[in-house]
Amino acid sequence: MIQPTDASREARTVPPLRQRPSRRATEKVLASDTRRHHLSLILQCLADEGPLSRADLSRATALTRVTVSDLVNELLADGLVRELGTKPGARPGKPATLLGLVHDAALIVALDLSDDTVLQGALLALDGEIVSRHSVPLGDARGDSAVDRVVELVRALVDASARPVLGVGIGTPGVVDDAGVVLQAPNLDWYDLPLAETVGARVGLPVSVANDANIAALAECTFGAGDADGLLLVAVGHGVGGGILMDGTVLGGPLLSAGEIGHVVVEPDGAPCACGNRGCLETVLAVPHLRTRLATASANAVESELRAVGATLGTVLAPIVTTLGVTDVVLYGPAELLDGPLLEAARDTVTARSMPAIAEHLDVRMASLARDVVLTGAAAQVRYAQLGVV
Ligand SMILES: [Zn+2]
Repeated sequence: MIQPTDASREARTVPPLRQRPSRRATEKVLASDTRRHHLSLILQCLADEGPLSRADLSRATALTRVTVSDLVNELLADGLVRELGTKPGARPGKPATLLGLVHDAALIVALDLSDDTVLQGALLALDGEIVSRHSVPLGDARGDSAVDRVVELVRALVDASARPVLGVGIGTPGVVDDAGVVLQAPNLDWYDLPLAETVGARVGLPVSVANDANIAALAECTFGAGDADGLLLVAVGHGVGGGILMDGTVLGGPLLSAGEIGHVVVEPDGAPCACGNRGCLETVLAVPHLRTRLATASANAVESELRAVGATLGTVLAPIVTTLGVTDVVLYGPAELLDGPLLEAARDTVTARSMPAIAEHLDVRMASLARDVVLTGAAAQVRYAQLGVV
């Protein structure tokens, strides 16, 4: 099975936010990038279909056998590829040697900064398996001191790695550009912060940064039950973010801010928000605010408090659902807070306030994936950035 369909490959890994590489060596690339591109092609084929022989790789990539042998020698020397013995059932003559990826040849450091109390981190193998975990408390750290916490967590994970570290992937709340600059993340007091460059310089490793909700939305469609034709994912943590997939593409918009529904004002005279406004959805729905609200409510008022917050969320969701025509609305965050009266009230409200033709197809539900998906997705970004492997 040398040429699986795109669909079968899509189902196995989180696609990166950037363009995936071409499978064939026919794409125009700069001469200096050609070898790196070819190495990525070999790794991609082995990731998708391995183990394969050199002849299989030559057929799959349309590269000559001489070129493939040369590239494979480099990957063997780097420890990324291993010879696995001869191919069974080979025809007479010199038996073909099978090659496979070495998934623990290097490890990836991944961070999920979306939690309200701790920064979560993990070491992952190249195939996305979590090898070990580490976290540091966020406390009151904001701005530069929050960057210090991030660097502390990266260093702890690098120190814990028994293998070379390929790179660092970070999923963060806020608006992030393609260069890993956090344009704004009010809850961490980050504005125009070149997070990838800053952390990279301090730890001496390549760093990839992407928005946590966009990573989660992609992963919900890749690993979970999400509908990539029209999905709105609302990520509820330290803040409230969102990711939108339309026709299989993450929406960005001119300010790269598409999906930031946490800062829609729902109570004009409400509590001050980290963004500078008052009464944003985030001041009602974010985990710290929800916890405070429930802690001060009497025991028999908890359900009605959760229903009230859910109704507020539904009021914000309804015009978005109708305007974009999305039918898959997913809440991503702590199930003990979101799954139950809050989700039901959000569903009731958005259904009642949406165009009936959309409402009858509408699904408002909890995400089908565990919270590790931001870590896994962040690691996939590194794998793509460093090896060209999706
Ligand atoms: Zn706000």
